[in-house]
Amino acid sequence: MQLHEYQAKNILSEHDVPIPFGQVASSDLECKKISTSINGKVVIKAQVHAGGRGKAGGIKVADNPEEAKKAAQEMLGTSLKTFQSGGTEFPINKVYVEEASDISKELYLAVTMDFDEKCPVIILSTEGGMNIEEVAEKTPDKIMKIHVNPLIGPSPYKVRNLLSLLNLEQKISQQISSIIQKLYRIFDSLDCTLIEINPLAITNDEKVIALDAKITIDDDSIFRHPDIEDLFDETQMNQSELKALSNDLAYIKLHEGKVGCMVNGAGLAMATMDITMKAGTAPANFLDVGGSASEERIEEAYKIIASDNDVEIILVNLFGGILRCDVAAKGIINGFKNHNKPIPMVVVLRGTNSSEAKLLLENSELDISFVEDLPTAAIEIRNKLGK
Ligand code: GDP
Ligand code: MN
Repeated sequence: MQLHEYQAKNILSEHDVPIPFGQVASSDLECKKISTSINGKVVIKAQVHAGGRGKAGGIKVADNPEEAKKAAQEMLGTSLKTFQSGGTEFPINKVYVEEASDISKELYLAVTMDFDEKCPVIILSTEGGMNIEEVAEKTPDKIMKIHVNPLIGPSPYKVRNLLSLLNLEQKISQQISSIIQKLYRIFDSLDCTLIEINPLAITNDEKVIALDAKITIDDDSIFRHPDIEDLFDETQMNQSELKALSNDLAYIKLHEGKVGCMVNGAGLAMATMDITMKAGTAPANFLDVGGSASEERIEEAYKIIASDNDVEIILVNLFGGILRCDVAAKGIINGFKNHNKPIPMVVVLRGTNSSEAKLLLENSELDISFVEDLPTAAIEIRNKLGK
C-alpha cells in the first residue's frame, strides 16, 4: 500500500526526520490560507500515487498566497500522468503546501529490500533529484549501497564508511547518518517495502531535510498497522482493481494488449500471459479468481475483465480442483449473457467436471470456444482476432 507524500512526511516528522513546514489542502482557499501562514515562497505539490510529478507539472512554486491559490486551482480536480505512472491518470484531490527551501545540493536516499541478497538495503547517491533513473542507468557507480543485517540494523561504522566516500562536510555527514538510522527504524517498524527520499536536500544554511517522501507498506502486513490502513486512498487506484479487491479477486491492469485473462493461481497466470504473447498479441489485464471461486464470483470476474475497454477477447484458463469446471462454465455463460458488451472468449477448463463444462459451453451457442489446451488456445485467439 502506497502513502501520499503528506502522509509519509507526517510519519517522518513523528520520527524526528527533518522536513520543511507544510500542510495538506483540499481547496484553493485552504491552500491560500496555509500559504499566508507560511508567509513566504511556497511549493504546491500534487498528492498522487506517482513519482515524476516535477516533470509532469505537478510541482509549482508560488511567491505569494494569491499565486499559491491559483496554482492549487489549476491542479485540484484535474489528473496527472507522469513518466512513472504507466499510462494511468491519477486524480489530484489534494495538494501539499510547503515552505520553499533554498537548496544547495540534492541527494537520493532510500531503504528497500534487496531480493537478490535477501536483506534490506540502504541506497544513497549524491546525484539525487529528478534524473535519478538516468544516473542509475548511465553512472551506476554513483549509486552506493549498504546491505543491512535485519537482526542488527545498519551498523554505524558501515554508514560512516560510506559517508566518508562522499566528501561531505562533517556537519552534513552527521545529519545524514542520523537520518539513515531513523529511516531504517521506520522501515523496520512499519513493515515497509520502500522508503524513498528524493531529493534529500542540503540547504544553503547546511541543514539536511527530506524534500520529498515516498513510503510503501507491505500489503501482507497492513493488518498489523490499523492506523496506517486508515490512510488508504482508494481514489488513487484503478477502479476495476478496486472492485476486484472488494470481491476478493486479484486483478491487475496491464497497458499493452487486448486479451483479458481469467486464471486461477499465479503460476497459471504467468503461463497464460506467455501464451497470449505467443499468439502474437498481449494481455490487457489478468484476474486471478483464486482456487475456490463460486459461480457468482466467476461472473463478477467476467464483468471486471470485460469492463476494460482495451479487451477485445477473453482467455479463460482455469484448473478445476476445488473449483469445478462446470461451475466456472456457468459463471462464464452468465457473465457473457448479462454483461452489456459480449466479448468473444477462448476457454481452457481442465480438471474436475471438464467434460460437463465443455457441454454447457457448446450448448450455450455463444461466441465461446472451448479448447483442450493452451497451445490450441493460442491458435484460436489468433483466428478469432484475425476475423
Ligand atoms: P517528484 O518529481 O514527484 O519526485 O517530486 P519532488 O517532490 O521530488 O519535487 C521535484 C523537484 O522539485 C525536486 O527535485 C526539487 O528540485 C524541486 N523542489 C521541490 N520542493 C522544493 C523546494 O522547496 N525548493 C526548491 N527550490 N525546489 C523544490
Ligand atoms: Mn521526488
